Amino acid sequence: MASELATVLGGEIGCTRPLSEEMHWLPEESCIGLSGAQVKPDLYIGVGVSGQIQHVTGIRNARVICAFNKDENAPIFSVADFGIVGDLYDVVPKLIQKLKQM
Ligand SMILES: Cc1cc2nc3c(=O)[nH]c(=O)nc-3n(C[C@H](O)[C@H](O)[C@H](O)COP(=O)(O)OP(=O)(O)OC[C@H]3O[C@@H](n4cnc5c(N)ncnc54)[C@H](O)[C@@H]3O)c2cc1C
Repeated sequence: MASELATVLGGEIGCTRPLSEEMHWLPEESCIGLSGAQVKPDLYIGVGVSGQIQHVTGIRNARVICAFNKDENAPIFSVADFGIVGDLYDVVPKLIQKLKQM
């Protein structure tokens, strides 16, 4: 789902450390943060990212930070320019659908 969102936006997909190291959803090189890559995109969208400092360190130079998280108290919202409190499995498909209509 995240890959599809990145594709419709013409973007790239990265991840947090647990996704690459523990779940092996993406390769190690895709990890963003203190022990991963520092990125500087026009737009960063954190999908189900809690926003721990070790990850946020890698996204600080993004021009716009957007976050989707079901926890309104997730730390990512304190660094986000825009955010949606909601279930990513609800939010992301709707966003993809809207973007495809544009
Ligand atoms: C020395 C050291 C170096 C580290 N370096 C890095 C690094 O470089 N990069 C990095 O990323 N991490 C790094 N970490 C790990 C870091 O501390 C965090 O554990 C990690 O960033 C958390 O990843 P996460 O946000 O995917 O997971 P979690 O912290 O588990 O957060 C998951 C989030 O998803 C939300 N969520 C769950 N389900 C849904 C849903 N259905 N819809 C919407 N939201 C949902 C939850 O509310 C939660 O906020 C490092 C840790 C250490 C100790």
